[in-house]
Amino acid sequence: MRPALARRLEGFGTTIFTEMTRLASEHGAVNLAQGFPDFDGPDFVKEAAVEAIRQGRGQYARMSGIPEIHAALAAKYRRDYGLDYAADTEFTVTSGATEAIFAAIQGTCEPGDEVVLFEPYYDSYRASVAMASAVPRFVTLRAPGWSFDPEDLARAFTGKTRAILLNTPHNPTGKVFTREELEAVAALCRERDVLCITDEVYEHILYDGKHVPMATLPGMRERTITISSFGKTFSLTGWKIGWAAAPPALTAAVRAAHQFITFATATPLQHAAAAALSVGPEYYEGLASSYRRKRDLLVEELRRLGFLVEPPAGTYYVCADFRSLGFDDDIVFCRHLIENVGVAAIPPSVFYENTRHGKTYVRFAFCKKEETLREAVRRLSAIRAVGEGVCGGRTRRMSRPSAADAADDARCAPPASGRDPTEG
Ligand code: PMP
Ligand code: GLN
Repeated sequence: MRPALARRLEGFGTTIFTEMTRLASEHGAVNLAQGFPDFDGPDFVKEAAVEAIRQGRGQYARMSGIPEIHAALAAKYRRDYGLDYAADTEFTVTSGATEAIFAAIQGTCEPGDEVVLFEPYYDSYRASVAMASAVPRFVTLRAPGWSFDPEDLARAFTGKTRAILLNTPHNPTGKVFTREELEAVAALCRERDVLCITDEVYEHILYDGKHVPMATLPGMRERTITISSFGKTFSLTGWKIGWAAAPPALTAAVRAAHQFITFATATPLQHAAAAALSVGPEYYEGLASSYRRKRDLLVEELRRLGFLVEPPAGTYYVCADFRSLGFDDDIVFCRHLIENVGVAAIPPSVFYENTRHGKTYVRFAFCKKEETLREAVRRLSAIRAVGEGVCGGRTRRMSRPSAADAADDARCAPPASGRDPTEG
């Protein structure tokens, strides 16, 4: 029989987020891996959803999104960024930003078109490009500062480039692209007639200055598909309400794909999201300042423990260099953390084409209650350097254990006395 899995999905395995959350619960670890808050979203938003359900808003929504959310989005972009989008023809409401990214690529790329990605990239980008039979080209962001070499960027644009996919504020590094960096991308897009798909899901989680949407740069509104999500801003990631904002022709392309991917997104949740999106700047300020406190706590504690940390300028992730702790491989380190220390984190090398680049970093999510962060820090205080000799120091994909990995696993198994050396 032919293999069940289509070739274009080979090699993607199971997403690191699914895998780490599963391992976290298996090992009783504090989950600083998957980026979801361990606290609830605002009551007024939940009440609006309950009210919409009570009012019987239970049937299919309009394919592109209910009129109320389109109107709320148009008002939001005007209020927050001075961007004028037409409510009816320039928004598509999707099942999370994940679907908007997928629909944007499916809707605009021909097989063989090239899509430029900055690495480390959010994992769905690469799979979305593969499922459109398009070809990814990579530009590496390098520490410190996680900037890129403008020549690398220029080289990545070829005669086949259809789009560049950019994420700011950036997961997993916490980088916020500077205006100059955005200008460099915009200049190439204009010159080469390339589309820019921007993932701005962390637009309201910024610690200095204001978010600069790519669509506000000269000549970019007409060639940009701006994607964002309600989940991060309103701490309700499971609702999966996202959207794409783009000029009418690009919106028509996104909708052409969206109508056959999910058709429409949960109706009562769209009503609640419309109510939520009408909040004023105080809400966003409160969100950012509450995350700033969590960021400062975690950064300070990680530094005290010996990690090398650049405080993130945005998002709720911190990428920490762990070399001074005696490790040199993120996958080995994350296994050690989860199995022996009781903390789950993400090994960023899985977000690179060339995994070597992310190998000495670990990503911690700090969208957690202060008590959760303190418990994680308490456990992390027990980190013990095991070094090369004990766990091999080889890079392995977490999702596809080979026989050699299994042998390593046996050698690296947690001591029989238990997985949390700080307890008992
Ligand atoms: N883009 C980035 C950069 C993300 O971190 C995430 C994770 N939430 C998403 C997109 C997906 O967002 P959603 O949950 O709305 O699909
Ligand atoms: N965006 C979240 C993160 O980076 C994960 C989302 C998911 O699990 N697909 O942790």
